[in-house]
Amino acid sequence: MSQTFHNYIGGRWVPARSGKTFTNRNPATGEALGEFPESAVEDVDAAVQAARGVMRAWQLTPAPKRGELLYRLGALISQKKEELAQAATREMGKILLETRGDVQEGVDMAYLAAGEGRRLYGVTTPSEMPDKWAMSVRVPVGVAGVITAWNFPFAVPTWKIFPALVAGNTVVFKPSEETPEMGWHLAKLLEEVGLPSGVFNVVHGTGPNVGWPLVQHPGVDVLSFTGSNAVGAKLAAEGARLGKRISLEMGGKNGVIVLDDADVSLAANAIAWGAFGTTGQRCTATSRVIVQEKIHDELVRLVVQRAQALKLGNGLLEGVEMGPLVNGRQLERVSGYMNVAREEGASVATGGGRASGAELERGFFFQPTVLTGVQAKMRVAQEEIFGPVVGFVKVKTLEQAIAVNNDTPYGLSSSIFTRDVNAAFTAMRDLTTGIVYVNHGTTGAETHLPFGGTRGTGNGHREAGHTMLDAFTEWKSLYVDFSGKVQRAQIDNN
Ligand code: NAD
Repeated sequence: MSQTFHNYIGGRWVPARSGKTFTNRNPATGEALGEFPESAVEDVDAAVQAARGVMRAWQLTPAPKRGELLYRLGALISQKKEELAQAATREMGKILLETRGDVQEGVDMAYLAAGEGRRLYGVTTPSEMPDKWAMSVRVPVGVAGVITAWNFPFAVPTWKIFPALVAGNTVVFKPSEETPEMGWHLAKLLEEVGLPSGVFNVVHGTGPNVGWPLVQHPGVDVLSFTGSNAVGAKLAAEGARLGKRISLEMGGKNGVIVLDDADVSLAANAIAWGAFGTTGQRCTATSRVIVQEKIHDELVRLVVQRAQALKLGNGLLEGVEMGPLVNGRQLERVSGYMNVAREEGASVATGGGRASGAELERGFFFQPTVLTGVQAKMRVAQEEIFGPVVGFVKVKTLEQAIAVNNDTPYGLSSSIFTRDVNAAFTAMRDLTTGIVYVNHGTTGAETHLPFGGTRGTGNGHREAGHTMLDAFTEWKSLYVDFSGKVQRAQIDNN
């Protein structure tokens, strides 16, 4: 019998009001890992009521005290890192090396957000009038609804929840139904460090049954979403209709540019890590290589070699380098793109199908895949595949490479490999993604820099870094007139 998990509402562990549950499974083995509440609108409502009930008390808790709680949380996560990483690999599939990184990002984010408890800087500025004081301060928005994807089941929620909490918001969190256990762990950790009841709530279930009611609930003031563009676009439209602030982090179609003068072996290693790490299921995954003609063949050869050498399997096992896709739908989606690639005239240099072999039969394994002969406008070069698939696009010049890179509906991450400092700076200036790397692949963001993308990747917000509070705070301007007179701005001193 697998374990039964509950929602966390108002400081209590409760089943869905309907009593319904769904089963969480290991995508590498099919093994059942636990039963989770299949919640609905009434559970969301209970969680929002709980969050609203303690909102005022939490807002009035001094920010440094809110921050101290996050320091304690960072230490606790660090202490439980291995246990959390194992749980994340079990339910999501990526290898332990990577889930350890996922959890570490939560530690880093806890400490970064904790520091904001003693900063939360506002701005003071002179008044245009004598004997008048002027300043602006950040204030919490209210109740934050958080909806996340499954691919970074620990890190991504922390980018949203920790800044929201330190800024004085209360939170209702809907984890992905593919990785509910990490949401449960997060609640357990926050409970253990003594977060007051109701400040943080978790409601498990599907997007339509839990996420959508959270978006629509009048008691939710701000929403932070990470997921696909299809869902994000719906949320954005509903947010606009309801006049709600919604911060969106969505897909990517990230390109690595490799110029003729690059260190080819370094570029090949970075491409393999960027394309096949997390089984290609990162928003920052390398899915296009935009390469100058002279080194094209050599780079393809090296990336194919690395792809073929990868050991696939259960991410919990020592020596495994690539885990499964997260579920059957992902397997179908990625397989479908292989037909698209062939129909469009691209060639499969390696991979291209479901991975087989005794240990792989029960999981959703797909071969690391390299496509060549990809043209910039093909669907496989424009759409997010979200699997271990990378396509090579040949170009003649740096200018052409930059144009190809910028010409997709997404704008998350890009990278250039070159030893030419002028080319590097030109790329840093002209690549129109939210993140640009030089001589490093498209993944590897650090928590103290803003994270997010342009165009279809988002709607202008940035998570983490010095921008972490923006989605979760309002600015309030404060004027104090100590002149004892009615001083009319723009009138009396002109
Ligand atoms: P998804 O859009 O299917 O689901 C994301 C979340 O939204 C889940 O919790 C889901 O239950 C919920 N949801 C689904 N339908 C909903 C609805 N109608 N109303 C409210 N909520 C709903 O995405 P996914 O498959 O979980 O994740 C993969 C996507 O996430 C990829 O596109 C990837 O690029 C993106 N992603 C982006 C970032 C980033 O920071 N830019 C990070 C990680 C993943």
